[in-house]
Amino acid sequence: MGRPHLCSDCGVCDGRYKPQMAQTCAFVRTHVEALEQQLYGRLRRRGDEELFGVFRNMYAARLQQPVADAQWSGMVTTLAARLLEQKQVEAVITTRAIPGTRFAPQPLLARTVSEIRASAGNKPCLSPNLSLLDQVRTDGIKKLAVIATSCQVQMLRALQPQLELTHLDIIGIPCSDNVTYPDLTLFLRLISHSPDTIVHYEFMPDYSVWMRHEDGHIERRNFVDFPMDKLDGVFPSACLSCFDYANSLADITIGYMGAPFGWQWVLTRTERGQALFDLLAPELNTTPLTSGGDRTRGMPRYIQMLDRPPGKPPKLIRSFIAFLQRRRGPRGLEFARAVIEMKLLRNLQHVRRQFARYEPRIVPYYVYSALAPYANDYSATFNRQLQP
Ligand SMILES: Cc1cc2nc3c(=O)[nH]c(=O)nc-3n(C[C@H](O)[C@H](O)[C@H](O)COP(=O)(O)OP(=O)(O)OC[C@H]3O[C@@H](n4cnc5c(N)ncnc54)[C@H](O)[C@@H]3O)c2cc1C
Repeated sequence: MGRPHLCSDCGVCDGRYKPQMAQTCAFVRTHVEALEQQLYGRLRRRGDEELFGVFRNMYAARLQQPVADAQWSGMVTTLAARLLEQKQVEAVITTRAIPGTRFAPQPLLARTVSEIRASAGNKPCLSPNLSLLDQVRTDGIKKLAVIATSCQVQMLRALQPQLELTHLDIIGIPCSDNVTYPDLTLFLRLISHSPDTIVHYEFMPDYSVWMRHEDGHIERRNFVDFPMDKLDGVFPSACLSCFDYANSLADITIGYMGAPFGWQWVLTRTERGQALFDLLAPELNTTPLTSGGDRTRGMPRYIQMLDRPPGKPPKLIRSFIAFLQRRRGPRGLEFARAVIEMKLLRNLQHVRRQFARYEPRIVPYYVYSALAPYANDYSATFNRQLQP
């Protein structure tokens, strides 16, 4: 399960497509360059696309009528429901919770709107959703939608020509630092006063995690207060070797982190992705995307911390750091850029330390140009070039 090898349990190896794993798995060899050419007819442009992936349009939006139990306003759930209602697809691969649990993931091939509604909300663990491709085939489904994290989408796009589908919609969610279910329960035990009563939680763009409990109260914990020493080994090597936070091969990506607080962040990528957004548009409110702060100021220090992780500062200092992050830290699109840049850097270092000989195969082309502005800081700290 996920660790210690480079595997994110996407599910391809659980079924008939296992023999294709060596040709499709992004942790064996990235195919992102060829897939971008195929999907978009070009590679990423300099600037935001190096971090966010190729996109046509970017929006901050939310549903006028939020979906109960959704992670944010429920745009993903509603889009999938509309596709089924309008018979644009016959089934949707989604992730529901194992009955009796709130967060243990169970892949589901949903055929009805009520099944889709019941799968709203994050089950923030590795989930072998692509194992359902066998059922898709045996059930003779030709028009399919898939809701998926980035690694699942990387594999799915590589497999797509072999799936014999006449229509495939990919609704992507951004993803980073996913975990196995046992490690999720460990994480929640470490950060919450009452882990068993959490019904919803999210890593917020205000640098804290918000945990909503059964009685409706919200518990908050600043990122800087996480007991990182006790979380060593929790994050799978695959997630620490992933370079696709923004789910860049989906038709449409629906997340939150580049939007103003309380809004969802949407990137339409393909022509079909734009049509999917347009389908939902009458049900949405939108607001302008904003950007604040300067991410580049903190990066040199972050690079040094990657090399020599500092000890945990005392509580008072941590509260001050959290205050500064909220007041002066990157916000809106700049927050998304900052987080993605940090994860690209951290993950490049993980690959260089743990899987050095895989670097030419699994680190995509855009990582080096996206991080080029920090090349001098990188070589001063790590005593080697950023470029391979
Ligand atoms: C592990 C994880 C990490 C994430 N990290 C970020 C992040 O850093 N930044 C960001 O902007 N967004 C992130 N997201 C996405 C974000 O939290 C919301 O899921 C997204 O914004 C959609 O919100 P919604 O209200 O439209 O979703 P909903 O309408 O509530 O629908 C959520 C959908 O997510 C799917 N889903 C749930 N769990 C999984 C899973 N384990 N694997 C695959 N699909 C799943 C379900 O099928 C469901 O349809 C993450 C999601 C996950 C699962």
